[in-house]
Amino acid sequence: MLNPLKLVQPTSVQEASQALAEFGDKAKLYAGGAELLLLLRNGLIDAEILIDVKKIERLRRLDSNNGALRVGACLTHHELATNAAIRERAPSFAYAESQVANIRVRNQGSLGGNLAFNDPHSDPGTVLLVHNASVTIGNAKGERRLALDDFFVDMYATALEAGELLLEVEIPSLPAGMTSAYQRLHRYQRPTLGVAVAARIAQGVVADARLAVGCIGPKAQRLTELEAKINGVTLTDMQSIFAEQKKYLRDILRPVDDLLGSAEYKLYMTGVMLVEALAQAAERRPED
Ligand SMILES: Cc1cc2nc3c(=O)[nH]c(=O)nc-3n(C[C@H](O)[C@H](O)[C@H](O)COP(=O)(O)OP(=O)(O)OC[C@H]3O[C@@H](n4cnc5c(N)ncnc54)[C@H](O)[C@@H]3O)c2cc1C
Repeated sequence: MLNPLKLVQPTSVQEASQALAEFGDKAKLYAGGAELLLLLRNGLIDAEILIDVKKIERLRRLDSNNGALRVGACLTHHELATNAAIRERAPSFAYAESQVANIRVRNQGSLGGNLAFNDPHSDPGTVLLVHNASVTIGNAKGERRLALDDFFVDMYATALEAGELLLEVEIPSLPAGMTSAYQRLHRYQRPTLGVAVAARIAQGVVADARLAVGCIGPKAQRLTELEAKINGVTLTDMQSIFAEQKKYLRDILRPVDDLLGSAEYKLYMTGVMLVEALAQAAERRPED
């Protein structure tokens, strides 16, 4: 059973941030509640006041600026998966959003709630990393922008400081000539493994690759060292390159044994699925 909760509905970032400052630990930011209500119901966190951020108009906007999409934190997974501009300009991100959980969670849960909670078993963050996405976070005093890579600190930990809200996510288009793909492995609703790739691929040769892996360790992660190593490599030779990189992948991804699979299995499948995703990207039309 949930204890009775007081609901506060600010209409500006200023008001939300002031409410956080006023109520302190007794209050939690609340968007779709897909995670938050589960945590409260199971007694994993405690709150007396929910600060509902969905009435803040800025957090519901979707527009574009200099070739980048700007997505308000409160847009839901379903809204993003089905949005025409996102499907056209960031199709792998739209696809990842369409794979989140089930239609109930996609209708309820927001991108901002997903990224701010930073559950390792998540989809959107992994593909946003290959877009070099950034986030704007802020409070009543001001705003700051961070690369998503820096926003994800560790499992369930982000760069958000007390009193700050995640406001929007900026998703740059991929550079001209690049294609992308997102693939996920799942036994249950939450993914066991998610891999995202973007690259220029001509006659089976990969250039300017971007690789990201999520779910198997504490947080979604770009594989920058490996990206440099596969520059100029053919898709045919890719599997053996990834197989040789087991130590690098283990060190950077820090895979864990859990109910979704052993660390060894997840590491093996990471190599397999990165190659598959690159092969899928090779079949696609560039996103510029
Ligand atoms: C059954 C189930 C299956 C799921 N499967 C998947 C899956 O397959 N893939 C996947 O990626 N995710 C999955 N999820 C997670 C789901 O996507 C997220 O729970 C959802 O996106 C969270 O968004 P929300 O708006 O409901 O956040 P809430 O539950 O409202 O909040 C989550 C956390 O974020 C904080 N928060 C919310 N908004 C902000 C903000 N603007 N600024 C700062 N902090 C904020 C809250 O205080 C809270 O700590 C699953 C969840 C469930 C319950």
